[in-house]
Amino acid sequence: MTLRASTAAGKRQVRFALVCVAAMAALLPVRTTAKVANTCSPGTTLRLSAPAAIQGGLLLIDLKSTKPLAEVQGEWEGRIVPFWGDSTGDRRHKGLLGVDLEKAPGEYELRVTGQTESGEKISCRAMVRVRKGQYATEKLQVGKQFVEPSPEQIKRADEERQKLRDIFDRVTPERLWDGKFRIPLDGVTTGTNFGKRRILNGVPGSPHGGTDLRAVTGTPVYAAQRGKVVLAEALFFAGNAVVVDHGLGIYTFYGHLSEIGVKVGDAVETGAVLGKVGATGRVTGPHLHWGLTVEKARVNPLLLVELLDNASEETTEKKPSKPGTK
Ligand SMILES: [Zn+2]
Repeated sequence: MTLRASTAAGKRQVRFALVCVAAMAALLPVRTTAKVANTCSPGTTLRLSAPAAIQGGLLLIDLKSTKPLAEVQGEWEGRIVPFWGDSTGDRRHKGLLGVDLEKAPGEYELRVTGQTESGEKISCRAMVRVRKGQYATEKLQVGKQFVEPSPEQIKRADEERQKLRDIFDRVTPERLWDGKFRIPLDGVTTGTNFGKRRILNGVPGSPHGGTDLRAVTGTPVYAAQRGKVVLAEALFFAGNAVVVDHGLGIYTFYGHLSEIGVKVGDAVETGAVLGKVGATGRVTGPHLHWGLTVEKARVNPLLLVELLDNASEETTEKKPSKPGTK
């Protein structure tokens, strides 16, 4: 952005800068299949949904074996890559590799290991390239009172950040979701601002870790998939917020709600009402801030909707049933 542009539109942009709204963050299309250079033990094949991921991206991994598999696990950059099969003894397992929004670009090795039902070890290795995300940057000069929270507010925000980190660090070993993920608002098909970075008075802030979905106050917010509510409270930045644990290290986050309709410990089905859209927290306009964490990586949630949609199309004949939506 030029200096002139930022001065001319200054006032309006300041208002937008402090909220999660504002300009578009490009959402890159998802490629559905790609073979990557990999080495697997005999009888095993590995495919990734794309040979590379951008920062904040997500890859679906498809592991096939000629023999029924008892267990599969993945590791990438010191993180567990969750894998699951549709049924016991399945020859096909899927995995999700989340690339954090701030993961340094480069090539990193994915290792997948497992065991067949008869006890044979299987393994695969593949190099996964991380590319820089082309996300918008916004430079703003604003009054100090907008940038600098009070010491009490800073303390509160820090404690809340730690609380969220502790939640995302816990991995529920069972997969609680089943089937596709949905966008949590009816009639909304896309979001904005994922990955957008703001530089306020010359100081770069952290990138925007979720996508913003437009809606008016009071619009029902639905659970993206089945899971368990692990946070339901007011946060300094995100306002009234709900976090749903879907199992295997996958969490969805819903922020700025006008009302919270669930409590910690509630089991929710896909489409259960979590609350209503609002403008609580550090915002000036109503919208839903929707976030996704996959094994501690902040990922664009719209990619999960798209990837599992494609995945379920490939395997529809194998799906016994899925939970109904409300
Ligand atoms: Zn937001």
